[in-house]
Amino acid sequence: MNEALIFMGPPGAGKGTQAIRLCKERNLTQLSTGDILRDHVKRGTTLGIEAKKKMDAGELVSDDVIIGMVRDVLESKGSHDIRILFDGFPRTTAQAKALDQLLNEYHAPLDAVILLEADEEEIVQRLLKRAIQEGRSDDNEDTIRNRMRVYRNQTSPLIEYYHDSGKLHRIQGIGSIDDVFSRIQAALSR
Ligand code: AMP
Repeated sequence: MNEALIFMGPPGAGKGTQAIRLCKERNLTQLSTGDILRDHVKRGTTLGIEAKKKMDAGELVSDDVIIGMVRDVLESKGSHDIRILFDGFPRTTAQAKALDQLLNEYHAPLDAVILLEADEEEIVQRLLKRAIQEGRSDDNEDTIRNRMRVYRNQTSPLIEYYHDSGKLHRIQGIGSIDDVFSRIQAALSR
């Protein structure tokens, strides 16, 4: 059966970690636009070279590029296997509308949007720690602050967009990985 979930939240709220776990439990494929972009960067593709400039500055990659990437993934899966957790997508209203349309084409309604919330200062500290552990070039303090700003300005309007559709679950993202995961499970079973 089709299932489509969205993970939303500011950078560093723990989306990736929780997404991996939820995918395992619900047999979903994680579609992280950030991971796809990082793979392009690593392979040195034209898309990757262009995207890296934006990523290093903490800016968003253009909607056309991102929507095209998501469309390609869905096309490669075929129409009978839409069990996807979207992680870090959509990030703009244009992306959200494109996703609505894509899911419509695949007859896969959106089941739920999980919003992981966390205090900004706590997140900045988390991200700085991750920078050291993973060596991500977009995890220096200036970039992190800019990513927060971009989230506030361009992505947070989606909270209202999904709230209005009645599919939004607000989850407190602070706490142990297990605690946060339990909250997500509880929200999805309601
Ligand atoms: P993430 O790993 O999801 O935090 O993404 C890392 C970076 O990739 C972001 O700061 C953006 O530059 C870019 N990116 C990832 N997903 C998107 C998206 N849906 N729209 C625009 N840019 C994105």
